[in-house]
Amino acid sequence: MDLTYSKEDETFRKEVRAWLKKNLPKKDKAISDLMPHDPERVKRSKDWQHKLFDAGYVAMNWPKEYGGQDADVMRQTIVNEELTLARAPGLVGASGLTMLGPTLIQCGTEEQKRRYLPKVLTADEIWCQGYSEPGSGSDLASLTTRAELVGDEFVVNGQKVWTSNAQFSDWMFCLVRTDPDAPKHRGISYILIDMRTPGITVRPLVQMTGDAGFNEVFFDNARVPRANLVGELHQGWMVANATLFHERNMLGSTTRTQLMMQNLIRLARSHQRYGKPAAEDPLMRQKLSDLLTRVEAMKYHSYRQLTDVMHGRSPGIGAMVNKLVGTELNHDICALALEIMNSYAPLKKGAVRVIDNGTWAYEFMFTLGLVIGGGTSQIQKNIISERGLGMPKSG
Ligand SMILES: Cc1cc2nc3c(=O)[nH]c(=O)nc-3n(C[C@H](O)[C@H](O)[C@H](O)COP(=O)(O)OP(=O)(O)OC[C@H]3O[C@@H](n4cnc5c(N)ncnc54)[C@H](O)[C@@H]3O)c2cc1C
Repeated sequence: MDLTYSKEDETFRKEVRAWLKKNLPKKDKAISDLMPHDPERVKRSKDWQHKLFDAGYVAMNWPKEYGGQDADVMRQTIVNEELTLARAPGLVGASGLTMLGPTLIQCGTEEQKRRYLPKVLTADEIWCQGYSEPGSGSDLASLTTRAELVGDEFVVNGQKVWTSNAQFSDWMFCLVRTDPDAPKHRGISYILIDMRTPGITVRPLVQMTGDAGFNEVFFDNARVPRANLVGELHQGWMVANATLFHERNMLGSTTRTQLMMQNLIRLARSHQRYGKPAAEDPLMRQKLSDLLTRVEAMKYHSYRQLTDVMHGRSPGIGAMVNKLVGTELNHDICALALEIMNSYAPLKKGAVRVIDNGTWAYEFMFTLGLVIGGGTSQIQKNIISERGLGMPKSG
């Protein structure tokens, strides 16, 4: 594994950094000051993604014919690193870019690729993921939302839950049961649903952060054209897993974790505990070193994955390791920040004596969601032990 960047990569990084310095949304246009579902925030977020796309910094490794640049994955990695370092707003179209897009490129028809991919890139159409149901989370294949094929249309009835961003999404990639008599993995199909279809009701759910980040979605005889089926009828489980693989890869981003770790060290150096900076307390130093070691291990693991991808090898089970380690690490970093801040920890943004604007408590709650979303840690461990280590199946 070569851990150095080429001269061309370093030059490219400088270009991206200079572009970001000039083009990052100004303070008065800040996206993060607004609630995630505020229409003004959605509009500003879409404008930001469009601008980034116009500059050539979105999905650079996608094929040229679908709006990408056929660039090697290193280019997009550099852009992503620079976006994180510049604390740029997250991309509102992330589900489309990182989950639906790669899935369609892999499993979609030519017509589907040409119809949907360009608008994924520019965020003109936002996508949400309709997998989980009230009775089906970890055991996703037990889902019961029914889609009956009537002529050239599916008639969809049932309910999805925890659907992130459904309240402002234009489309949903959705798992439905099309053959109730087949074994559970073989009766599922993967369809694309226009969220403006009559018979769809979206009800936001407020989580402990105070944001309504996800929703319940109800289907009451919603009619979806058969042409919106991705892959073969009843073979949606294979398509669904392609999406899950890309999702898990996305959820374990290293740069963000490194940034959080740096912020934690800064906090430990500046915040006093028992009359001296927390970073001088031997117990705290031990906990900080433990986290720092884990961050470094994760960084090298992700370099190994990047090397695999650059050599055309699938990162395989490594993506699940990334998801498991990355999401737990982010949460543990926040937990130590709360311990350092002690009684100041629960203070919210705007409160007298609040530290770092209340970000740590917010992130502590938010990052717990990411340990669960995209498959819980327990499920990742099951998959890694069974498929990665060849251990016997659980239960
Ligand atoms: C922030 C967030 C965003 C989300 N966004 C979306 C979205 O956009 N679209 C979507 O479809 N879903 C979304 N989800 C749902 C998410 O995928 C599910 O919450 C997750 O798969 C777990 O399912 P569940 O909540 O039903 O928990 P359950 O499956 O009921 O699990 C409960 C507990 O039992 C454990 N458990 C279950 N089975 C096993 C087993 N076999 N072995 C060991 N332990 C087990 C789990 O690890 C967990 O601790 C989101 C969730 C969160 C938190």
